[in-house]
Amino acid sequence: MSSILVIGTVAFDSVKTPFGEAPEVLGGSATFFAMAARLFTRVRLVAIVGKDFPSHHLKMFEENGIDLQGLVRSEGDTFRWKGEYEENMNVRHTLETHFNVLEDFQADLPDDYRNTPYVFLANINPDLQMKVLNQLTSPKLICCDTMNLWIINQRKDLEEVLKRVDFFIISEEEAQMLTQDHNIVRSAREILKLGRFALIIKRGGYGAILFTQQDEVFAIPAYPLENVVDPTGAGDTFAGGFTGYLASRDRLDLETVQKAMVFGNITASFAVEGFSVDKLIALTREKVRDRLSDFLRMTHLAPVVANVE
Ligand code: AMP
Repeated sequence: MSSILVIGTVAFDSVKTPFGEAPEVLGGSATFFAMAARLFTRVRLVAIVGKDFPSHHLKMFEENGIDLQGLVRSEGDTFRWKGEYEENMNVRHTLETHFNVLEDFQADLPDDYRNTPYVFLANINPDLQMKVLNQLTSPKLICCDTMNLWIINQRKDLEEVLKRVDFFIISEEEAQMLTQDHNIVRSAREILKLGRFALIIKRGGYGAILFTQQDEVFAIPAYPLENVVDPTGAGDTFAGGFTGYLASRDRLDLETVQKAMVFGNITASFAVEGFSVDKLIALTREKVRDRLSDFLRMTHLAPVVANVE
C-alpha cells in the first residue's frame, strides 16, 4: 500500500441544486479527492486554508486518517466557490470564485512528502501543479485534473504539466473545450497528442471512458441512482477512488487500471447522494464493495450477448 499526495483546493462551497441549497459547506478539489482516496490508502494533503477555517473540519480530516502536515493555515480567508446546477444536473454554472489565500500559496512540500510515489494534481492553478512536480524525487504515478478556467487562461502552463503526467482525468465539457470538438473519440485522440498519458473522460451521469496511447478504449456507465442531490466533487471523488485503488494495489497494468475506474465510479456514486462530503464521511470499503456487486450484475454484458443467436 503506497501513499498518495494530493495538491488542490480546500474550500467553502455554496451550492444550489434542484434538491436544495448548501451555503458555505466544506468543499474543494483536494477535499473530495482525499475523502475518497483515504478509503484505499494513506493520503497526504497539500493545500491552504484561511483563519476562518474551523477546527472541526481539520479534526474530521484527521479522524479519517488524512495527513495534514502539508496543509498551510494562513491569515486571510479560505478559497470560496459558488455554483448552481440546472434541472439536468449534468449542467453546472459557476457563479463566484474567490481565490483569497490561494493567491499567496507557495505549495512548498514538507521534506517527508517529496518521495511520495502516487500523486494527484487536483484542480488548481497549473503553476502550482508544476511546482509540486518539481519537488518530487521519484514519483511512480502522476494523475492530473484541470478545469475550464485554466484551459482558457493558462493553456500553455497546463500543456507543460501534461507532458509530465501518466493519467489526465477530465470532464467531457473540458475535453470539448480543449479541442473545440464535440465528438468524444476525436477529441480524445487530439488530447492524447499532448503527452504520453492515458486519458479518462468523465461524463457525469453517463459514466467514464478510458483512452490509452495504445488505442485501448474502456467505457463504463455510471451507477444508476434514484436521488442525485449534489454532483459537486463527483469528478474529484472519482479520481480519489481511482488513484487510491491503484496505490493500494501498487500495480499499473491495464486490468488494474480498469478495476480502478470501476472503484472510482462507485465511490463517486456515493458522493453525489448528499451535499458536501456528507456521504463520504460515512462511507466504508464494505459499502463500496456492496454497491460494486450490484454494479457488476447490472453491467454483466458478456453472458447476455453470448446467448444471442
Ligand atoms: P468537481 O465537481 O469535481 O468539478 O469539483 C468541484 C470542486 O472544485 C468544488 O468543491 C470547488 O470548491 C472546487 N473548485 C471550483 N473552482 C475551482 C478552481 N478554480 N480551482 C480549484 N478548485 C475549484
